[in-house]
Amino acid sequence: MSVIEISNLTKLYGNSRGISDVSFNVEEGEIFGFIGPNGAGKSTTIRTLLSLIYPTSGSAKIFGKDVVKYAPEIKRDIGYLPSEVFYYDNMKVIDLLKYSASFYKKDCTRRIKELSEILELDLNRKIEDLSLGNKKKVGIVQGLLHEPKLIILDEPTSGLDPLMQQKFFDLLEKENKKGVTILFSSHILSEVQRLCDRVAIIKEGKIVQVDRISTLKENNYKKFKIETKTEVDFRAFDVAGVNQIEIKANTISFIFRGNINSILKKISEIEIANLWIEEPTLEEIFMHFYKKEE
Ligand code: ADP
Repeated sequence: MSVIEISNLTKLYGNSRGISDVSFNVEEGEIFGFIGPNGAGKSTTIRTLLSLIYPTSGSAKIFGKDVVKYAPEIKRDIGYLPSEVFYYDNMKVIDLLKYSASFYKKDCTRRIKELSEILELDLNRKIEDLSLGNKKKVGIVQGLLHEPKLIILDEPTSGLDPLMQQKFFDLLEKENKKGVTILFSSHILSEVQRLCDRVAIIKEGKIVQVDRISTLKENNYKKFKIETKTEVDFRAFDVAGVNQIEIKANTISFIFRGNINSILKKISEIEIANLWIEEPTLEEIFMHFYKKEE
């Protein structure tokens, strides 16, 4: 069952692009990565899903229900961590969390205690005295205290130190094991690779690919590095399937996707001194997507 269904979602800010014709589904129980550089349209998509802003055209459903029409009902089962959190500085952490909990028809006291212990968050401090990382923790507890069925995280790790990031990821994995679906947006490739089953890649407001992490990493792409004895004209390698060409004196490197025989034939036409063929990292594959249309 799809927990999130996004169909041709477009959002214009005045005349300028937010997102354009975005479509993808997130299945129940998945940890789904939403990846793209800053300004690509991740927050716009997420804010539309939460009905904080409204689509120019297209639609989206969460738990099978239209996000605009059923917003209040849907939101009861969603935990949302925005990319930037703003609070009333004067409040104590515990009072803010109790206030957040009052929107739900359940007792969240035990869960608040549990989460703040895991994240080492002092409930009796005033918000204004907290570091950025600790404010982020307040946001995390706020997003999870009502035990939502769907967790939506917009760039959640900024401000958390590596140790705390690890604890946070463990927490998410634990929730996921209980059946909770997670949508996780990030521009940091390594954390998506670690945590997610599938990803959607967004670039300049448009989805360029939706795939399993494992598929992206599989044999589709090879990284070539070729060293020649003497200087040769590498322009012959500027053909379809070859991306990210880098030439340094007698070496050329590139990412290749296509018929491996055709590229090997090209290589055999020159006098090579050395050859490396490797699996590209996920980062290198993503760079390929980002640069594809430039
Ligand atoms: P991301 O979350 O991937 O960094 P955003 O969704 O924030 O990207 O931004 C997508 C595009 O929409 C960017 O070009 C950004 O400048 C624009 N944008 C975002 N919010 C607004 C806004 N409130 N008004 C005008 N343009 C906006």
